Amino acid sequence: MSERLVIKNGRVVDPSQQMDAVLDVAIEDGLLRLIAPNIDATGGDTFDATGMVVAPGFIDMHVHLREPGFEYAETIESGSRAAAAGGFTSICCMPNTQPVNDSPTVTSYITERARRHAIVNVYPIGAITKNSAGEELAQITSMRHAGIVAISDDGRPVMNARLVRRAMEFAKSLNIPLIEHCEDLDLSAGGDMHEGVESVRLGLHGIPRASEDVMVARDILLAELTGARYHVAHISSRNAVDMVAFAKSRGLAVTAEATPHHFALADRDMQPYDSNYKMKPPLRAPRDVDAIARGLASGAIDAVATDHAPHPGDEKMQEFERCPFGIIGLETAIPLTLERLFHPGMVSLTRFVSMFTEKPAGILSLDKGTLKPGAAADVTIFALNPPWTYDVNKSPSKSRNTPFHGREFKGGAVATIVAGKIVWRRDDW
Ligand SMILES: [Zn+2]
Repeated sequence: MSERLVIKNGRVVDPSQQMDAVLDVAIEDGLLRLIAPNIDATGGDTFDATGMVVAPGFIDMHVHLREPGFEYAETIESGSRAAAAGGFTSICCMPNTQPVNDSPTVTSYITERARRHAIVNVYPIGAITKNSAGEELAQITSMRHAGIVAISDDGRPVMNARLVRRAMEFAKSLNIPLIEHCEDLDLSAGGDMHEGVESVRLGLHGIPRASEDVMVARDILLAELTGARYHVAHISSRNAVDMVAFAKSRGLAVTAEATPHHFALADRDMQPYDSNYKMKPPLRAPRDVDAIARGLASGAIDAVATDHAPHPGDEKMQEFERCPFGIIGLETAIPLTLERLFHPGMVSLTRFVSMFTEKPAGILSLDKGTLKPGAAADVTIFALNPPWTYDVNKSPSKSRNTPFHGREFKGGAVATIVAGKIVWRRDDW
C-alpha cells in the first residue's frame, strides 16, 4: 500500500517549470507524482490549500546549527525544527562549530546526526582553511566526498588572497562554490555597527562599508582569474551589489545572497545598545538597505538566506561591545520578505519563490527547488495575507536573539512537507 497525499486547490508557483496556476499536487511514497486539476484523492490523505501558495520546498543556504560544540545554543535537531517552522525544507550549515567542519570526520558526524535527528534536509558546508584560521587549506576534497556542498570560512573572511586563489582552484575542480564572508578585518577591527552618522551618535566603533567592498572586489578578480564559482554571503553594501551585477554582466559565475534583516532594517532602526541589532555585516544605511531590496528585485542578488545565528540569552545579555554578532532568522524570513519585497510590489510571486528555491538550488547544485514529477516531495505551503504576531518564545530554536519579537506580519509559512511527510503545520490558519 503506497503512501499518498494530495494537496488540493492551492496556487502552485514553481519557477523551475514556469508554473503559476490553481492546481492539485499528488505525492506518492515521498515523491512528486502529478500536478493537475481535480486529482482524485480517495484512498489517501488530503491537504486543503485553498487560498494558499504551494511552492517547491524552500532552501536556506546559510544557517548556523552550533552542533558539534555549542549545543546549548542550537542543535541540528532544534535548528531543523526552527527551519520547518519557518517553511524551510532544506538548510545548509556553516562550518564554524567546535571542532570546525574542516575534515571529513566532522562532515560525516554532521550528516549522520542530521540523518537521525533533523526533520528537514541538512547540507554541510566545509571550511576553506583548517580551523577557519586562514592559514592552510582544509581537507576540501575529502570533505566533498563526505557530503559538503560548498566551502566557506563564514564568521571569518579569508584574508590571504593567495590562499583564496588556491581554494577557488580546488572548488572549481570539485564543481562547488566558494562562499566568502566579505570583511577586511583590518578595516572592520573593533567595530560594532555600521560606520556613519548613527555610530557617531551612539558613540560606538564603526565598520565601514569599504570593509565589505574591498573584499568583494578582490574576490571577483580572483573568480575571473580562476574561473571558479564564487558566492557573496550576506551582502549588505550598495557598492558590493553594484560589483556583483558588474561581475554577472561580464559572464562570471558570481552570485550573492542577502538576509532579511539587511533589507528590512537600517542602522537608524537599531534600539540603542540592544544586542539583537548587532550582526555582521552590520545593519547599514538606508541607501544600502534600498540597494539590497532593489538588487533582489533585479536579480543582481540571487537568493535570500537567513544567516540564522543562535546565541543563548546570557551571551547576548552583556554590554553591547561584548556581545557576539548575529540573530536567529529562520521563522521570520518568509514574512519579512513578503513585507519588504512582495507586498510593496517590488517582486512578483514567481521571483519571490525563486529566491528561496531554484536560485539557491542552482548555486549549490542541489537536486531540490522544483516540483517536477519524480523529484523528492519537498513542498512549502504559505499564505500571503493573514495577519499574525511573531512570538519568539514559541520558537523551536534554543535561542531567542531576534529584533523581530512582537512584530506584526502579513502572511507566512503554513506547512512544511519533506519527502512527502508533513513535518510542521501551523494550526491556526
Ligand atoms: Zn558571515
